[in-house]
Amino acid sequence: MSAVTDEAQKSPYAPQAKWRERNPKAVWAQAALRAAIKRGIVEPQPCVVCGDPKAEGHHRDYDRPADVTWLCRRHHRAEHRAMRAEAC
Ligand SMILES: [Zn+2]
Ligand SMILES: [Zn+2]
Repeated sequence: MSAVTDEAQKSPYAPQAKWRERNPKAVWAQAALRAAIKRGIVEPQPCVVCGDPKAEGHHRDYDRPADVTWLCRRHHRAEHRAMRAEAC
């Protein structure tokens, strides 16, 4: 007699759609940042860690959408993992 292990209970990565529902402010901050880049208000920078030119803006404060740290995808993920936060 053995109990069934809850393999399915392991939390999977939340789909982007769910993330958007949970983090409306983060979504707004990202949209604002994108608009700012488009208008030339904010200039995209390379990753501050490795210098990858394909960096994305990481928000430390959603109330300041233009105030971001530029990180490539890998380091952006690492940063969020370190913060244990879901938002961007
Ligand atoms: Zn990087
Ligand atoms: Zn981020």
